[in-house]
Amino acid sequence: MATGNINITAENIFPIIKKFLYSDHEIFLRELISNATDATLKLKHLSTLGEIKEDIGNPIIEVKVDKEKKEIRIIDQGIGMTGEEVKKYINQIAFSGAEEFVEKYKDKVEDSGIIGHFGLGFYSSFMVANSVEIFTKSFKKNSKAVRWECDGSPKYTLEETDRKERGTEIVLHIDDDSTEFLEESKITELLNKYNKFMPIPIKFGTKEIPDSKHKPKTLKDKEGKETTEEQKMITVDNIVNNPNPAWTKSPNDLEDKDYKEFYRELYPMQFEEPLFHIHLNVDYPFHLTGILYFPKLSKNLDPTKDRIQLYQNQVFVTDNVEGIVPDFLQMLRGVIDSPDIPLNVSRSYLQSDAAVKKIASYITRKVADKLTSLFKKDRKVFEEKWDDIKVIIEYGMLSEEKFFEKSDKFALYPTVDKEYFIWSELEEKIKPSQTDKDDKLIVLYASDVKAQHSYIDAAKEKGYTVLLLDSPIVSHLLQKLEGSKKDVQFVRVDADHIDNLIKKEDTKISKLSDEEKEKLKPIIESVIPKETYTVQLEAMDSNANPFIITQPEFMRRMKEMQATGGGGMMGMGNFPEMYNLVVNTNNDLVSEILSTKTKKKQERLIQQAFDLAKLSQGLLQGEELTNFIKRSFQMVK
Ligand code: ADP
Repeated sequence: MATGNINITAENIFPIIKKFLYSDHEIFLRELISNATDATLKLKHLSTLGEIKEDIGNPIIEVKVDKEKKEIRIIDQGIGMTGEEVKKYINQIAFSGAEEFVEKYKDKVEDSGIIGHFGLGFYSSFMVANSVEIFTKSFKKNSKAVRWECDGSPKYTLEETDRKERGTEIVLHIDDDSTEFLEESKITELLNKYNKFMPIPIKFGTKEIPDSKHKPKTLKDKEGKETTEEQKMITVDNIVNNPNPAWTKSPNDLEDKDYKEFYRELYPMQFEEPLFHIHLNVDYPFHLTGILYFPKLSKNLDPTKDRIQLYQNQVFVTDNVEGIVPDFLQMLRGVIDSPDIPLNVSRSYLQSDAAVKKIASYITRKVADKLTSLFKKDRKVFEEKWDDIKVIIEYGMLSEEKFFEKSDKFALYPTVDKEYFIWSELEEKIKPSQTDKDDKLIVLYASDVKAQHSYIDAAKEKGYTVLLLDSPIVSHLLQKLEGSKKDVQFVRVDADHIDNLIKKEDTKISKLSDEEKEKLKPIIESVIPKETYTVQLEAMDSNANPFIITQPEFMRRMKEMQATGGGGMMGMGNFPEMYNLVVNTNNDLVSEILSTKTKKKQERLIQQAFDLAKLSQGLLQGEELTNFIKRSFQMVK
């Protein structure tokens, strides 16, 4: 038997690590199973190279928990280690790695978000164990099995042992403050979280399944009644992982139903089917595989649940992919697996890393390409899904320039009558009728079909096309579209009266003379609240309403943008709620207001017409509404 000192300078770094990674103690299991997996993959590799002649069988990894003895065992059938290798890899490399880790990160606890996810390896066993044993036998011919033990101090023991099987068995003697890990349910939970898709089968416990060789028969008992013989059960190894998850396969070998099945496997508590998937697969200049899903976005969607999962070689790392996946795709679901994402670094570093930037832009491009091909392949289906995906796409158009550039190929502009156009089609359709006198293309839209009904109707009557743009960030998006497309302006249907929405050359003749108009304006202004309403006299169709309330596009949009944040809108003070009162000088009622002799009657006419205009905009509420109704009843009496 040999004893010695582990090659570290710090007297005792175990307590530091233990405290440092307090919340992440559970990762020990993932780290040890990763080592076991590596050892098994190496063995398989040597076997395919022909360096191991004998049959290696189908190696698995086993996890065993003994609550009485307070032990957890992780057993593999991999390459194992010789005594010399234990000295080298465990005493020197593993521990120097751990020491370096502490040195590097002891001052950066607040940044441990992703650091805590990686980089500890074998050493992490001391986060939950007060002593650790390794029993190991190398695959190499004539090598002797060894037993190593360490109680967390820098001292270790190494001796020969009589283990017969190839591979490594790690025995953790669990600390009194970590006994939660002796619960079967806890281990199941961890295996499910970190090891669900690891490439080597993992056995934990046994389970009973019906014996297929022994089909139950229907028998007649003594009284002749039929009974069914009890099904015979057999006990089998309980393999807890799927070593060949869908994302590791070629898209050519997968059907739509396989992708749906994998979605269910990833998120067993999700009952809604995904809308569509995107299979990612790159070899150069970085390695990345994965499958992303567009989920159906429901109102009660919880963005902290069922997020995209990041793996490295099938080992779960985190479900916080901030910085790796572009912001606008955070709502997607699925898996990305890349060994090229540096994980032992802070998030702020991650976001500025060139390789990670490339990954993010690759994902963005893939998503844009997939959307384009879905639109081309089956337009009808794409249109049906638009309502569910538009928020993500619009957010992407706003936040990612590359995505915005590609969006003309798939971003849809739906009309209030549920017709869908991509930009070029829309442009072609509305150009003849909706180009104004300054050659600007005016795109009319509504945000609420019910509330803006009368305006939509008026616009349709003119032969205009009215879009329905109702997502919360639409004001920002329109601002961006106007900035990037030449001579295009978006105007909401209630932004002005119909003749002014798209200004054409022809001016209507006004029944009132300029003199009369000058007289009329102050009379109306004296009745309505001037702070909120600007009076605007217009010669319109005599059948059009006498008073119409509009909300100028610019002010309203600025206000909306401020409410939804971003775009340098903060600290600009609040935009006031401003409206225009459009007075139709060709309507008979307006002539009557002007010619009425008694001031009282004149005021009453204005007030009533003003209230009616407000009513049609949903702006008449509370006391004003009560007074209006009282007044109206008196009038009909
Ligand atoms: P890392 O896995 O990052 O190299 P570890 O501290 O986890 O660091 O392990 C150090 C080394 O010990 C490994 O590189 C490997 O050579 C050896 N090792 C650890 N666990 C096993 C195992 N189960 N079977 C064979 N070798 C192992």
